[in-house]
Amino acid sequence: MNDANLIFNTIFPPKFFSFLNTMGIFLLAVLWIFSVSFVAKDLSKRTKDNFIKWLFIITAIALGPIGFIIYLIVRPGMTLAEKNQSRLESSMLIKEFESNICSKCSCLVKEDYLFCPSCATKIAVVCPNCDKIVRLNCKVCPYCGEKSMNNDQ
Ligand SMILES: [Zn+2]
Ligand SMILES: [Zn+2]
Repeated sequence: MNDANLIFNTIFPPKFFSFLNTMGIFLLAVLWIFSVSFVAKDLSKRTKDNFIKWLFIITAIALGPIGFIIYLIVRPGMTLAEKNQSRLESSMLIKEFESNICSKCSCLVKEDYLFCPSCATKIAVVCPNCDKIVRLNCKVCPYCGEKSMNNDQ
């Protein structure tokens, strides 16, 4: 029994364990700091909501690596940059769509139509200056700047 203890202590001196202990605590501390700073940084890209921000940061501070894993699972889906991008794209799509429907009957019309094929409403005029087709709601010709668009005819 004593012999076994002696052999064990020779192979693994108590200092070895205290070294492991220190390393473990050190690694854990690094992991902890990493978790909190990652969550804080990532959140500022994803949300402007201070309540959500602090909720996650406090979770990360309290739970460390576990809070970090929880954060990865439930974090807000898109970054703010991605959100802005998709909002821009959809508003552009809507604009393009609106410019291609008749204002009266919502029938699809082509860019170069002067009249709606469905309800015969006048939707565009020919610019008297450059002969380009210009939508009725334009104050001036977007191609040449002509001001006397025959909008009310
Ligand atoms: Zn129409
Ligand atoms: Zn023109």
